[in-house]
Amino acid sequence: MKAAVLVKQNAPLEIYEVGLPMLDIGQVLVRIEHSGICGKQIDEITGRQGEDRFLPHLLGHEGGGEVVEIGPGVTKVKVGDRVVMHWVKGSGIDSAAPRFNHKGEVLSAGWVTTFSEYTIASENRLTPVADDVPSDIRALLGCAVTTGLGIVFNNAKLLPGQSIAVFGVGGVGINVVQGANLVSAYPIVAIDRSDEKLAYARGFGATHTINADKEDVAGALKELSKGRGFAATVDTTGLNRVREVAYDATDPKKGVTVLCGVPFAGDRLSIDSFPLHMGRRLIGSHGGDTAPDVDIPRYVALYLLGKLRLDELITARFPLADINSAVDLVRDGKTCGRCVIAM
Ligand SMILES: [Zn+2]
Repeated sequence: MKAAVLVKQNAPLEIYEVGLPMLDIGQVLVRIEHSGICGKQIDEITGRQGEDRFLPHLLGHEGGGEVVEIGPGVTKVKVGDRVVMHWVKGSGIDSAAPRFNHKGEVLSAGWVTTFSEYTIASENRLTPVADDVPSDIRALLGCAVTTGLGIVFNNAKLLPGQSIAVFGVGGVGINVVQGANLVSAYPIVAIDRSDEKLAYARGFGATHTINADKEDVAGALKELSKGRGFAATVDTTGLNRVREVAYDATDPKKGVTVLCGVPFAGDRLSIDSFPLHMGRRLIGSHGGDTAPDVDIPRYVALYLLGKLRLDELITARFPLADINSAVDLVRDGKTCGRCVIAM
């Protein structure tokens, strides 16, 4: 089977013909139909968090596929099931990571990887869903959607009428906006450097937008929160100067700042930590603290009801053979919504 492999940092992915090992306890062979492409993979390619000790390796962590074969002990899925493939652990066996091979060399891979025609996933990284959820939509439910919504529901625990400011409205940020809209938050402020992305965010429920290249973000946020600070601020950029503005724009008495963007290796924040003693919170989000077995079925139900807009999130499509064009597009921030790879 073909797989896009990260052989060297800051170089194009290489399409390898990859051999599949026998299934071990708790492992599942999945035919991948669609994969999303996430900032995390761009970070792995560009080395945002430093040197990669696992090269060469497979990558990708959100996918939609079909179960082809199950290994010993697997009970969560059966052959023919349509699944969401996610990096956050759910119920089931936490298997060993698969050891793929290429020309006699072992390729590293995590418990789920999705930039390939087939993969071997640990059963706890799979959640079966109804057959009528398309595979490209299932791919979105593997990370971007669950992380964005989870930040609102699980991390910020935002209530109707509370305010939120979202820094960066890419794949995750747009779903933070969508989640805030679902709970009738107000105002919902989107901050980005692209007017196109800000217009897109308005379509998902942002009530106010700020272009960081043209406006004084801190001043505009102070005005929008009437000097009180926001109930929740969310950073999806991982950039220190942005995270500090997000922290300072939070309600100093009871607000929460949620950090989601991956920081650069070695970065350190400079903040006034005193308000943290008074009930204010600063937290890092782990995939929206999603519980896949509980949250994914809820989101699927909302999607099938027409209350969660997922079809509109897909704004670019590429075949596996052209995956480096998808990487370029996402790395350069040139697409408003989510880019998916068809296998
Ligand atoms: Zn992701």
